[in-house]
Amino acid sequence: MIQAIKRSISRKIMLLVLATTLTALLVSAIVSLLYDMRTYQKSLVNDLVTQADLLGRVSAPALEFADPKAAQENLAALRVRPMVTQAALYAPNGQLFASYFRAGNDRTGLPKTLQPEGFRIEGDRIAVFHHVADDRDLIGTVYLEARYGQNERLKSYLLILAAMTATSLVVALGISSWLQAAVTKPILAVADGARDVMQRRDFSVRVEKTTDDEIGLLVDAFNDMLHEVGQRSQALLASNRTLQEEMQERRAAEEALLAADRRKDEFLATLAHELRNPLAPLSNSLAILRLAGGNETAASAARSIMERQLKQMVRLVDDLLDVSRISTGKLALRAEPVVLQAVVSDAVETVSPLIEARSHTLDVALPEQPVHLRGDATRLAQVFANLLGNAAKYTDPGGRISFGASTDGAQAIVKVADNGIGIPPHMLGNIFNMFTQVDGSLERTQAGLGVGLSLARHLIELHGGTIEVHSGGTGQGSTFIVRLPLTPPVDAPEPAKDDGAIAPAGPRHRILLADDNVDFAGTMATLLREMGHEVRVVHDGLAALEAAGAFQPEFAFCDIGMPKLNGYDLARRLRALPALQHTVLVAITGWGQEHDRERAHAAGFDRHVVKPITFEQLLSLLEVRRSA
Ligand code: ADP
Repeated sequence: MIQAIKRSISRKIMLLVLATTLTALLVSAIVSLLYDMRTYQKSLVNDLVTQADLLGRVSAPALEFADPKAAQENLAALRVRPMVTQAALYAPNGQLFASYFRAGNDRTGLPKTLQPEGFRIEGDRIAVFHHVADDRDLIGTVYLEARYGQNERLKSYLLILAAMTATSLVVALGISSWLQAAVTKPILAVADGARDVMQRRDFSVRVEKTTDDEIGLLVDAFNDMLHEVGQRSQALLASNRTLQEEMQERRAAEEALLAADRRKDEFLATLAHELRNPLAPLSNSLAILRLAGGNETAASAARSIMERQLKQMVRLVDDLLDVSRISTGKLALRAEPVVLQAVVSDAVETVSPLIEARSHTLDVALPEQPVHLRGDATRLAQVFANLLGNAAKYTDPGGRISFGASTDGAQAIVKVADNGIGIPPHMLGNIFNMFTQVDGSLERTQAGLGVGLSLARHLIELHGGTIEVHSGGTGQGSTFIVRLPLTPPVDAPEPAKDDGAIAPAGPRHRILLADDNVDFAGTMATLLREMGHEVRVVHDGLAALEAAGAFQPEFAFCDIGMPKLNGYDLARRLRALPALQHTVLVAITGWGQEHDRERAHAAGFDRHVVKPITFEQLLSLLEVRRSA
């Protein structure tokens, strides 16, 4: 198409130049031909008339004296005029007086009769009749005939015209090619640029400006337009790219959300299952207790079942709280110097019942020298107990579990290995993610909430360590390796003294119990009375405030969500009573988040305990003493 444009523009310019040249040439040639022919005829006639006049004058005496011989001689002088072919002198009566014929000319061609004065043209001949007169009278007539020569003149004129036209066309061609360079080149450059843009979508193309005329203006406009379109298309491309990236990010985020949602659903199902599990033995044990009557053996068996199941539930709820602390970034350590062996012994003690119940053999190999670390002993024990518990859970009964610790440079290395069901390779990368559990019927029956390993990794990382897993695959057993930084040994720390304000209390106390859960308050009161304490029970905040004034308890165990006056307001009002300056205020509540703890302390509570409260916790609480 561009090629066609190219040819068409060049051809048009060429045709324009040639047509203009030809037209101009033809018009001027025709005009000058007509003019020339007319001028030629005029000058020829003038010439012949002058010649005839001269002949008349010279031959006048011969005519007057009737001397044809002299006249003949005068006519013979026409030999020097080659164009004159014949001539004659006539007497006034019209009779031929003398004649002249150019050699080779037909002698019969003279007019028989006289014609009026003037000229005539016949074919290629021109003839002039001219009167000869003396003063008044006509004495004769001169006749001159010559070759007109107009055809030859026309021929040579046309030849010259042809040569001129050819030369002009050559010159015109030269001009047209110059014009092409000057005019079509910039236009074709614009067309080439347009083609490049169309074919390659390349808006960086620019056409070189060679002239400052209208074409230069066109080139500028074209370049500006390309610049503008280029910028817009760049902006469009960029925004397309951003849109695509955003779409990808959104898709990834959606997928991550869906995956998290799926994991959460699975987790909730597991949670419901795990929380319901201990309920059946608990309710069975309650029935046993009701029926057991005096059968102390059955009652004690039922109690230990209840204790175990309760512990299991408490552990689940603790794990959940830890999960929440992790997701809010509030999982903090109480770091202090610890000895690895002591931590391991705690963990082993916790898991021993499960290991025994599943008839596993546990080999523990620890260095003889104490291994010193800095960390939170409870949390480290939780991690090792979790690893050992998993080894026990995910190994068929009668398996082998080994717990080994060693040091390597500045690191303590702990390995927990089992010969259990192992972990398939595709799960190894996910095992430390929250709510991840390897599928399978055995695992499902044994599984917990799928948060233990995730918690373990967070806790180990908080200690500046790492945890990794190795397994040959399903049925090949698993090995977990924990690395922790060692610290130089330090002297055993003084036992902590609860910021010095609280000191151990005596054995019998006045205790105020405020809780709108009548069953909880009732059972707690029974327990405390069994332990020998004096207990006052109330079920709302205002009653608690009233009772406290009169009773002046050493301990007030208060729920937070209570009718009439909530636990926080109650604590503030109790703290304001001078008589209760020494009272230890304990919040016993179902709200166990970090900010609940902080709020309780801010309101004036000395301790914040999450339900259910164990007997051991109760004992240690009663050892707390407050000095105002
Ligand atoms: P769970 O409460 O399910 O035990 P964990 O986070 O402790 O949660 O473990 C996550 C999953 O990792 C488990 O459900 C189990 O499938 C797998 N797992 C953990 N420890 C072992 C092990 N020693 N052997 C085989 N599988 C294990």
